[in-house]
Amino acid sequence: MLAAEESRGANATSLKSEVSIQLPVAEQSKINREIADTYHRYHIDAIETEDRQKIPRRFNVKVGKFGLAKLLAKEFFKYFGHWDVVFSRPCTYGVFSGPVGGFSPRPDLCVGCLRCEIQHPEFVKVSPNPELAKLGDSYLTSKHIARINEESKKGSVPVRGQGYRGKFGGPGFDQMFTDMSEIVRPSRDGIHGRELIGTSVDLGYKPMYLSFHKNGSLLNSPKMMTIQVPFVFDAPPSSVDQIVSRIYAQAAEDIDTLAFLPNETVTALGLSSAHVVPMIPPNEIGSIESHGNGTRMVEMTTWSPEAWAVVKDHPLLVSVRLPFIGDWKSRLIEMVNSGVSIIRLVADHHGLSDQGEFVMDLFQEAHFTLVKNGNRDEVTLMGSGGIAGADHLPKAIITGMDAVGLDHPLLIAMQAHLSGDLRARDVADVLLPKKLDTDWGVQRILNLSCSWRDQLLEILGAMGIREVRRLRGEIGRAMWCGHLEEEAFGDIDGFIGGGH
Ligand code: SF4
Repeated sequence: MLAAEESRGANATSLKSEVSIQLPVAEQSKINREIADTYHRYHIDAIETEDRQKIPRRFNVKVGKFGLAKLLAKEFFKYFGHWDVVFSRPCTYGVFSGPVGGFSPRPDLCVGCLRCEIQHPEFVKVSPNPELAKLGDSYLTSKHIARINEESKKGSVPVRGQGYRGKFGGPGFDQMFTDMSEIVRPSRDGIHGRELIGTSVDLGYKPMYLSFHKNGSLLNSPKMMTIQVPFVFDAPPSSVDQIVSRIYAQAAEDIDTLAFLPNETVTALGLSSAHVVPMIPPNEIGSIESHGNGTRMVEMTTWSPEAWAVVKDHPLLVSVRLPFIGDWKSRLIEMVNSGVSIIRLVADHHGLSDQGEFVMDLFQEAHFTLVKNGNRDEVTLMGSGGIAGADHLPKAIITGMDAVGLDHPLLIAMQAHLSGDLRARDVADVLLPKKLDTDWGVQRILNLSCSWRDQLLEILGAMGIREVRRLRGEIGRAMWCGHLEEEAFGDIDGFIGGGH
C-alpha cells in the first residue's frame, strides 16, 4: 500500500558502482534516470470511500417556486432560441441540475458558496442546516465533524474556492497564525512531489554526542525508530467494539505509524506487531516480554520509578504516559532525569489540563523546560488531546511536540456519532455505523491520514521548511492573534483583549 520514504532497490547499488566509471553524457544520463526510477517516494493511497451512515447535510436550500417560474418565463421570452442560456443553472455544484431543476433542488450537493442567493435574492435562500449544528460540542464542532467526514471520504484537501469567510482568530488552536511568507522553493515542488518534504519523525533516544569504550565500541548508541507521519493513533474508548482496534492496527501498519492499544486487547485479539504499542500498567510491566511478532515499543500507562527501573534497559522502546494533571512538570523532569526518552503528554479531549490550561501553552511549557535543561533533543515528546482538525497538527508541532496523538477524529472518520461528555477521556457514547467492516474503516482512516498529511505539506511548503522535524518548536514562525491585537489596539481605551 505504501513504499518506504526514499528507499532504493537493490539494483540501485550496483548501478551506483558503475557510475564512478567515466561515461559519455547520454549514457550517464540514462543510468542516472534508472537510479532515480528506483526511488519510491512515501505516499498514502487515498481511495474515495462512500459514507455508510449519513451525516446531516451542511446547508438547506429553499427556492420560491413562484419566483423561479416567473424568472424562467421571463428568460424564455428574452433569450428565445438561445437554449443554452435559458437552461443554464446558477449552481456549478449541481444543486439545480436534477430533472426539474430548481423546483426540486438537491441540497446535499450545496457547498454554501451563496452564488445563487446573491444572483436571485428574491426567491433563493441558503442557510446552515440546524441538524448538523447539533453534532459535536463546543470544542469538536459540527464544522470539524463535517470536514473530517469529507476528508475521510475523499482523502483530499478540502477546497472551497470561496476564500476564507470565517473570523480571523478564535479560541484554542485558532489563536495561532502561521508565517507563510517563505512561499518559495521547496514549497510547490515539495507538494507536487518533484522534491521531498519529509514528514517522518524519530521516536526514542538520540545521544547528543557519541562516547566510546576503551576497546572502541560505542557506549551510547541511539535507541530509536522512525515513523513516516508525525501522528500516532490513540487507543479508542473501552466501550467500542473490538473491530475498531483491528482497524487502527491495520491502518497504522498501512501508513507506517503506531496504534496505541490496551495490553489486554492486543493479547486477546493477537494484534502484536511492529505498528502496535501495547499500553501496560506499571504493575504488569513484567509482561513486556510476552509481545513478539516485531513489537518495537510498549507504553507504561502511568509514571512509576520502580516499574521504570525494571524496563529502562530493555531492548524494546518504552514510552511513558504523562497526563496534564497536578504537578506534571515535576514528574516530567523526574522522568527525563531517570532516562525516559519517549513521553506522551495527555490532555482531555478539549485540549485542557485539570487546571484548565490549553495544550498550546502546555506543550510550550514542556518543550521549553527541556530546552532550558539542555536535554530537549534527547527526548521525544508526543502530545494528545484537542486535535480536531488538520491545522492543529502543525500547530501542536510548532508549540514543541515531535508528534501528536489522534483520538476522536479517527472515530469520526469512521462516521461514529459521538454524544454525552466529549471532553473527559473514555466516557463518550460512541455509535458506530451498523455496517462497519475492517476494509472500509481502514480506508477511511487512510484517507483522513492522507488528507491531513497533504495539508501538513501545504503548511511546510508555505513556510519553506523541508521536513517536519524542523518545524518542532518553531514559534518564531507563528503569531498569536491575542498578541497582534494587543500590539495594534492595546493603547486604545476600552480594549479588553482576549484574542477573539
Ligand atoms: S449556495 Fe452555491 S453551492 Fe449552494 S446551491 Fe447556491 S450556488 Fe449551489
